[in-house]
Amino acid sequence: MIAPGRAKRPGAARPPLDPPSPDELVSCPFCAGHEDMTPPQTLVLPEQGDWKVRVVPNLYPALDRQEVVVHSRRHIRSIAEAGSDELELVAEAWRRRAADEPGNVIALINEGREAGASLPHSHSQLVWLPEPPPRRASPRGELVLESDQVTVSSPWASRVPYETVIAPVELDTDPFASAWLGPTLEVLADVIRRLHRLEGPVPLNAWIEQGEGDWRLVLFPRLTILAGLELGAGIHVNTLPPEEAAARLGSA
Ligand SMILES: [Zn+2]
Repeated sequence: MIAPGRAKRPGAARPPLDPPSPDELVSCPFCAGHEDMTPPQTLVLPEQGDWKVRVVPNLYPALDRQEVVVHSRRHIRSIAEAGSDELELVAEAWRRRAADEPGNVIALINEGREAGASLPHSHSQLVWLPEPPPRRASPRGELVLESDQVTVSSPWASRVPYETVIAPVELDTDPFASAWLGPTLEVLADVIRRLHRLEGPVPLNAWIEQGEGDWRLVLFPRLTILAGLELGAGIHVNTLPPEEAAARLGSA
């Protein structure tokens, strides 16, 4: 349900974040030099020299196998701040861990406390599920931008302001074996930078979703609070029409 009258700007000016406090930096287990604060790594990339991306088991897994992919040796709070070299290695880390431990793997990103992130240092999670997650049909939407590899769109049935779908231009069945995984993550970082320019530091979730014979990366910003109507009835009251979201993201 699109209800644009409810708010002019969904984020209503989120103030910029304070820089990390000394305590945040000293206690961060994902920063370079703090490797002994995590369980032993399952993968580091590159394999020679200083690591740029590091994979470790999740200390508090909800499911049997859950791993954390640290996106940078620098203390960055958003994947938007990761460099191309780091994003390409994040894609390679997802690909290699999924290949090394076959199963029903999903990849997801939580950014910001309100979106479920317990640590601010940019990271993603790989979760091995006991059974395959539900496959979802590709949503149709309003085009935000397009490259020769990836399309970005705002779904017509966007559940939240700036919900965005990033997908390879050609049908491709396996995200973790895909040559488009890296480019898709680079475009995700670009879209989040645009979102930051529009709304400030936005808590967000993102995840890889598979359909029948295709896959996509869904960005789900958390500018609004999900309440009883959303959780109980599955009815999302979205204050930002998707065509407006597409226009703003496209020009930001
Ligand atoms: Zn850190």
